[in-house]
Amino acid sequence: MGGIETDYLVVGAGAAGMAFVDALVTACDADVVMVDRRHRPGGHWNDAYPFVRLHGPSALYGVNSRSLGSDTIDQNGPNAGYYPRATAAEICSYYQQVLDEQLLASGRVRFFGMSECVSDTRGEHRFTSLLTGESTTVRVRQRVVDARYLEPSIPATHVPPFDTEPGVQLIPVNDLVKQGRSPSGFTIIGGGKTAIDACLWLLEEGVPPTAIRWIRPRDAWLLDRAYQQPLALVPRLIEGVSLYLEAAAQADDISDLFRRLEACGQLIRIDPSVQPTTYRCATVSDAELARLRSIENVIRLGRVTHLAPDRIQLAGGSIPTDRGQVHVDCSAPGLRLAPGRPVFADGQVTLQQIRACQPVFSAALTGYVEATRRDDTEKNRVCPANRYPDSALDWIPVTCTAQRAELAWAADRDLSSWMQRSRLNAISSLRDYLDDPQMKSALARMLANIEPAIARLDTFTAEIMAPASDPAR
Ligand SMILES: Cc1cc2nc3c(=O)[nH]c(=O)nc-3n(C[C@H](O)[C@H](O)[C@H](O)COP(=O)(O)OP(=O)(O)OC[C@H]3O[C@@H](n4cnc5c(N)ncnc54)[C@H](O)[C@@H]3O)c2cc1C
Repeated sequence: MGGIETDYLVVGAGAAGMAFVDALVTACDADVVMVDRRHRPGGHWNDAYPFVRLHGPSALYGVNSRSLGSDTIDQNGPNAGYYPRATAAEICSYYQQVLDEQLLASGRVRFFGMSECVSDTRGEHRFTSLLTGESTTVRVRQRVVDARYLEPSIPATHVPPFDTEPGVQLIPVNDLVKQGRSPSGFTIIGGGKTAIDACLWLLEEGVPPTAIRWIRPRDAWLLDRAYQQPLALVPRLIEGVSLYLEAAAQADDISDLFRRLEACGQLIRIDPSVQPTTYRCATVSDAELARLRSIENVIRLGRVTHLAPDRIQLAGGSIPTDRGQVHVDCSAPGLRLAPGRPVFADGQVTLQQIRACQPVFSAALTGYVEATRRDDTEKNRVCPANRYPDSALDWIPVTCTAQRAELAWAADRDLSSWMQRSRLNAISSLRDYLDDPQMKSALARMLANIEPAIARLDTFTAEIMAPASDPAR
């Protein structure tokens, strides 16, 4: 067994690991070893379904030191009016370039692909090549960085959580593009963003809404893409923040909060007659929402438990099906719902979300903070772990933690200055639009409401943490 030494051992070269390493080596002269069991960087994007795109703008994705695609607003097509969203192929090629042309070229980063990394209880770390079986021990001078803590469960590697009898056409969403002949209909299984993507793709390809049956065990609160745009569209983004802070500050109780969030357009739902119980940062545009609403055959009988050639058994009942029907498994949970733990602790960094729904920006911020600060308590103060939301009520603590962090960053001159230079920071262009009327009124509303909103969200968080008060959890 060979051995190497490094300052940082980074386990996982997905979006989080790459953003962290890029920010770290830009801000200090650390030596880094990156290990991934995949053959190249890019993590889950290497196995993504063919028609997937980023859910948010490319302008906010990747690493700080290199743009992803063009920052020109799309004029045509389903994304018209918004910044482009890269495909999986574009993202994988981008990460390869970042690795080859920046990280490896710096001479301070080494990458070991096709290698499984393990750490034992004595604190020894080693990786083993999945091709040769050869193991290498790694002596770590500074920290081990867990850049797979939030590794998502994705359709390509997911095992359906229900039994399927022979004779049923059940495919992973990745195989939708491989249909050889037209089926009697499509049954989409899952209520998350993958299912949304599958429905939108089928509709775009000309499948009539009546040919789609959507098994949606839980309805979700969604985000409006119009409020998630950076750069020249940042006034609208700030307006959105100001509106949800105002809603939080003025809410009488939790039900009133969600009423207000919907009324001001900060949470939206596909079916206005059904109360959503989940919230997982999924984003849609107005046009997409209208298309999703055209699918009227929605089954709400809980999760699928068994698939037979003529019947689908669900937690709350059963429905007929047939051998000509293509059942599309979109039940992979996507975002990993790992419990929050300190980002910095005992020779380890665990990359997690800090700003709500922005894992990549959060990883870059963590890299910069690791490179430039000494004390772990201080590092954790400016990088509070903020676990991914799942239930609808999770909107409350996630927003509260993120807003408190925003206040800490704003009070810190060095971090504020880094944020302005960070292309992954959704509001880095804010100062360029201070004279914009929409920005002016949004900033005034935001400043008036941020502290009362945090106080109110704290109260609501305490309520939902009280035992037996949260049936949606
Ligand atoms: C469809 C989809 C769209 C998304 N769109 C956006 C978006 O628009 N904007 C946004 O900010 N975020 C988006 N996200 C979230 C974001 O892309 C990442 O999912 C999130 O940051 C998690 O990435 P990761 O690097 O933690 O995980 P991964 O990409 O899964 O990377 C983790 C890596 O760790 C490796 N690994 C795990 N264990 C080991 C081990 N023991 N040894 C060696 N290697 C190991 C894995 O092989 C993997 O490559 C999206 C996610 C999905 C699924």
